[in-house]
Amino acid sequence: MKSSYDIVIVGGGMVGAALACALGNSSLKVAVLDRAPPAVLGQDYDQRVSAITLASQTFFENVGAWEGMARRRVSPVREMQVWSEGGSGAIHFNAAEIGEPCLAWIIENSVIQMALIERLHQFTNVHYLCPVEVADITLADNGAAVTLKDGRSLHAKLLVGADGADSAVRRAAGIDTQSLNLDQKGIVATVTTEKPHEQIARQRFLATGPLAFLPLDEPHTCSIVWSADTARAEQLLALDDAGFISELQKAFGDSLGKIQTLGPRTGFPLALSHAKAYTAPHLALVGDAAHTVHPLAGQGVNLGFLDAATLAEVLLEAVANQKDVGARAVLRRYERWRKGDNIAMVSITGGFRYLFSNDLPVVSQLRNWGMSLTDAATPMKNFIMRRASGLEGDLPKLAKRALH
Ligand SMILES: Cc1cc2nc3c(=O)[nH]c(=O)nc-3n(C[C@H](O)[C@H](O)[C@H](O)COP(=O)(O)OP(=O)(O)OC[C@H]3O[C@@H](n4cnc5c(N)ncnc54)[C@H](O)[C@@H]3O)c2cc1C
Repeated sequence: MKSSYDIVIVGGGMVGAALACALGNSSLKVAVLDRAPPAVLGQDYDQRVSAITLASQTFFENVGAWEGMARRRVSPVREMQVWSEGGSGAIHFNAAEIGEPCLAWIIENSVIQMALIERLHQFTNVHYLCPVEVADITLADNGAAVTLKDGRSLHAKLLVGADGADSAVRRAAGIDTQSLNLDQKGIVATVTTEKPHEQIARQRFLATGPLAFLPLDEPHTCSIVWSADTARAEQLLALDDAGFISELQKAFGDSLGKIQTLGPRTGFPLALSHAKAYTAPHLALVGDAAHTVHPLAGQGVNLGFLDAATLAEVLLEAVANQKDVGARAVLRRYERWRKGDNIAMVSITGGFRYLFSNDLPVVSQLRNWGMSLTDAATPMKNFIMRRASGLEGDLPKLAKRALH
């Protein structure tokens, strides 16, 4: 059986589902396919959480998915504290300094995905096919064809790869990536602490990698992301809970008092990568399929949401101007718009990781000066806060607060 679509999105993760919502209620016929059923939110906190910028929040509001997240569980970050191991440098960011109620939100990945999938089911022009396995992808002059393992075949004017870092769509298009294996793993877990977090996100830079405590809606509960060299991470993952808590306490210090309980731990390999192209005729890549960054800046999926909002804007304009959504010229506009920002973030997170994991005295001195100077320089600090929160920059309309 063959079905024709304007757009087929492979990958209904956070970014693919967000793109589908952004194309909802349009004249485009859209299919989203995923091999895995969407995450389900249980009683316990999801191990995977994301720091969500204010630009991403605006995007969710504009596509009608924010209410579905806020109704489940979202946690505001009012302040951010960053400091380094054995150094005098520290930076504090406070939302009040830029006149905002919060700097970001911490939201469980399952909450984000559930709200987006719930929303896309409300659009009659969007079909969600899940679970399905892709058997073959073919790109031709007149479009793209996806054959599913159940024998169905989908034809599209535009195929979008939102299928994550190991993207089959990217491979089918023969697009190479530049990658740097960081030889690090990010360990994630949920912990409870003696003192309340007071909606402050805390990050300590250790010589072995950064350790973040991200505040959840329960005042004594945080989600941790502990990035460490692979050998050290494996060691930490192999410890029993009491041994891990003891190492975690030593690494983090006592600003939240005693670490009291620990949920299950998982380690994710970390890599920096960037696709050499985001588009080809009838094809576009978004999210981790196009780029991965170090989680230390909490920007990875936010870049993906900006890709989705930008691609949707470019495609809807093409429709309004009766242009082919798979045309190279249309897609190149998306690629030019997003590449600069994404490359900058890949480089910044890579550079930060080097700067903070280096214990040469001269580098550590520079680091401490840099942090103290930035902390004292109010305009620079405000600029960083506004930029990191997604209040500045060349944003697509769906991520801007006031739609024109
Ligand atoms: C430890 C850690 C902490 C992080 N913290 C943050 C943070 O605080 N803030 C932030 O912004 N980012 C963070 N990130 C990054 C963020 O998790 C990723 O950028 C994000 O998950 C990418 O979303 P995506 O939808 O592009 O890809 P994915 O989440 O990888 O989703 C891809 C989807 O495609 C589907 N799929 C794949 N292949 C196929 C196929 N062949 N057929 C059908 N379906 C397919 C998969 O099932 C999946 O649903 C973190 C990452 C890590 C590792």
